[in-house]
Amino acid sequence: MMTPKEVLALCREREIRAVDLRFMDFPGTQKHFTIPVKALTEESFEVGFGFDGSSMYGWQAINESDMLVVPEAGTAFVDPFMNRTLCLFCNIQDPITREDYDKDPRNVARKAEKYMQSTGLADTANFGPEAEFFVFDSVRFDQNEHESYYHVDSVEGQWNRGKAESVPNAGYRIRYKEGYFPVPPADTLQDLRTEIMLILMECGVDVEAQHHEVATAGQCEIDMKYRPLLETADNILKYKYIAKNVAVQHGKTATFMPKPLWNDNGSGLHLHLSLWKEGESLFAGSGYGGLSDMAVYAMGGILKHAPALLAFCCPTTNSYKRLIPGFEAPINLTYSYRNRSAAIRIPVHSPNPNNKRFEFRCPDPSANPYLAMSAVLMAALDGIQNKIDPGAPLDKDIYDLAAEELDTVAKVPRSLNASLEALREDHAFLLKGDVFTEDVIDTWIWYKSTREIEALRQRPHPWEFTAYYDI
Ligand code: GLU
Ligand code: MG
Ligand code: MG
Repeated sequence: MMTPKEVLALCREREIRAVDLRFMDFPGTQKHFTIPVKALTEESFEVGFGFDGSSMYGWQAINESDMLVVPEAGTAFVDPFMNRTLCLFCNIQDPITREDYDKDPRNVARKAEKYMQSTGLADTANFGPEAEFFVFDSVRFDQNEHESYYHVDSVEGQWNRGKAESVPNAGYRIRYKEGYFPVPPADTLQDLRTEIMLILMECGVDVEAQHHEVATAGQCEIDMKYRPLLETADNILKYKYIAKNVAVQHGKTATFMPKPLWNDNGSGLHLHLSLWKEGESLFAGSGYGGLSDMAVYAMGGILKHAPALLAFCCPTTNSYKRLIPGFEAPINLTYSYRNRSAAIRIPVHSPNPNNKRFEFRCPDPSANPYLAMSAVLMAALDGIQNKIDPGAPLDKDIYDLAAEELDTVAKVPRSLNASLEALREDHAFLLKGDVFTEDVIDTWIWYKSTREIEALRQRPHPWEFTAYYDI
């Protein structure tokens, strides 16, 4: 971890001219402003820089609009796209009390890590994220092309999605749901993903693999190595920034919306979780799937609180268009060894006990990673503290179960509204250690209900034109 002195030395060594101060707003968008390099001193890492907090969604309730960004030296990286610019992730503070701001998502994540340490259960929560995204051709999103999706309702129709051709040219095209893993020329995004992967590594993010994903058109995945919660959330910010900017340099766009295409796979942000103490994973044991009791209780907590958790993990109206059967997205709130159709999957045994983990498959990349991972950790800790039993695993392919048997398996909420309702009822586990506050929960529910659910509800949907135009 770099110190302020080392950051200043890096600026001299790389002839940095501008310092970009970055933070994540409440809903989950990256924000920034830039200072000349001479304005960054050792003291800056204590005193911070002022900005107008009232212009940020969800933060405007604060009476004092002046707020501070306080850069964190350990997060420094050289911007791979801009002219001699250094980036720093920042914490948000109140300039008068100098307290960390409760609605700063990064602060929630820092508090979640502190709370976990205060329980003595673990010193580190490692998260391995698998963020999927789509790359589409035009920089400008084309509304007409988009609408044509809603007029295609056969599998064959997928060949022609968005195109006006009458005879599909199938040559070197990825077939419907066969995006996993044809080589180029069918995979046209190979170089683009490698470029993203290499730039991520230059920016200090360790990458395990990159590949095309299952969906037909341009679905990508680049897997970052697991790191502690806060660092993983910072890494997801770098990941989105780099993927979007590389795409634009190629005349394309990258989107992290969970379900851009009807009738094809959506994009998840699977989270592989393990709790550690003194350099050893606490999740390896002799229980189901090679898990420890602690890991089993952690799954119990996540499954019990899943409907409320989804308010943070699947936080957009679009998220619920992904959580349907048939597209490898989880819909049943259960766990299983290997089975990808459960909300929690335990990856196959590895000889190294420190690789023992489980994968929570519900989250998607529209989530604010600081809030989503903090909420998942709090649910896991609640499960461990209260020895919550996750019930019996489900090892059959859940999609093939008989209807009566399926009825007994709890389901993910069907809409953002339902998840927000669940969060309203069930959030005491998030308030422990003041990690989330009542104000954070209320503001989240208010923001999502008014700015997203109601905003969509008022607008005619493209599908309604197909269904009702000629009525
Ligand atoms: N894209 C799928 C999802 O929505 C997951 C595919 C996979 O297992 O990687 O979650
Ligand atoms: Mg995947
Ligand atoms: Mg996965």
